[in-house]
Amino acid sequence: MSLIVQKFGGTSVGSIERIEQVADKVSRFRADGHGVVVVVSAMSGETNRLIGLAHEVQERPLPREMDVLVSTGEQVTTALLAMALDKRGVKAKSYNGSQVRILTDDAHTKARIREIDDARLHADLDAGYVIVVAGFQGVDEHGNITTLGRGGSDTTAVALAAALKADECQIYTDVDGVYTTDPRVVDGARRLEQITFEEMLEMASMGSKVLQIRAVEFAGKYNVPLRVLHSFQDGPGTLISLEEANEMETPTIAGIAFNRDEAKLTILGVPDMPGVASKILGPVGEANIEVDVIVQNVAEDNTTDFTFTVGRVDLPRAEEVLNRVAVELGAREVRADSKIAKVSVVGVGMRSHSGVASQMFSALADVGINIQMITTSEIKISVIIDEKFLELAVRSLHSSFELDKEPTDEAAA
Ligand code: ASP
Ligand code: MG
Repeated sequence: MSLIVQKFGGTSVGSIERIEQVADKVSRFRADGHGVVVVVSAMSGETNRLIGLAHEVQERPLPREMDVLVSTGEQVTTALLAMALDKRGVKAKSYNGSQVRILTDDAHTKARIREIDDARLHADLDAGYVIVVAGFQGVDEHGNITTLGRGGSDTTAVALAAALKADECQIYTDVDGVYTTDPRVVDGARRLEQITFEEMLEMASMGSKVLQIRAVEFAGKYNVPLRVLHSFQDGPGTLISLEEANEMETPTIAGIAFNRDEAKLTILGVPDMPGVASKILGPVGEANIEVDVIVQNVAEDNTTDFTFTVGRVDLPRAEEVLNRVAVELGAREVRADSKIAKVSVVGVGMRSHSGVASQMFSALADVGINIQMITTSEIKISVIIDEKFLELAVRSLHSSFELDKEPTDEAAA
């Protein structure tokens, strides 16, 4: 008999019919003898609706009052699910964040969990109850309601699983797992059986928006096995854990991630001398603009060209800053380009396999794609390319690394 934390997102509890389906699912687990703690989001669209109401009253509502308001969405679904379970003869109790006592700091609308009191939950579990907890919310030490940031129910689920030392934290959603890449771009994209926390973080931050990033970080830190599953289709989903899949069956690359959220800035003809990089990036940082990929080249005339990427939304501000810097440094020109994309191959297997980078670059060369910038980390290689080649690049890399093939086939070969 194991203890499982199950989280159902907004679309999974988006109507009474859906809530009934969730209740069916939960009661099957309970009937199998598992201890079950369920975390629910608000009905889909509800959090946005509540935020809209707030803005009808006040342009900038106090964060404390925002939290009182938006936390109500999750309280509705906990009660409805507990009722649906009771109707099925399953003993169930709903709790909001402060009743459990999910203690957070006081950073309203983006609070962090400090501590979870598990006494009450353990007592209920021992007495055979299914516990239904409101996701996304907690309480600060003065009793004020707090929320954990959009998508925060994932974090609630992982934190509860960690506190209760659950055997698994299951995240039910509207996809059946984590894919090798976006199936809308590559037909042959395949559901991964298993992926590590580190890989998932790299994939998630690049747009495989299955899970809140903070929840994955939390799960990694406390080693909580996470499983992403479809709410209403049966299947094994994708297990996210510390371990790599069986060495023999592990492909070097877990997946191809990409995004179109960045833009590129180049400052040309800067005098090549100590302190230049900090004179350029210092003011950018001071403007609270995050820089991602950086490349610097030295030309023969003792000047240097300096290129970096920022979030696309920050481009106008970054360009303004850079134009000022260019005057100060006597640079020749500033160029901005928002039509770029970043494509990355991700996989912990890179640590022990060389040649991934050269395979990536030759796959791109084969289809005539020019690489503008390159950056690497231990488990990721990213390139910046022209946005119009993004889909071609992803497809080429996906097939070059044979991600469309089942890994077990390879092991057998
Ligand atoms: N209802 C909250 C949101 O929409 C929390 C969640 O769904 O995870 O952000
Ligand atoms: Mg959500």
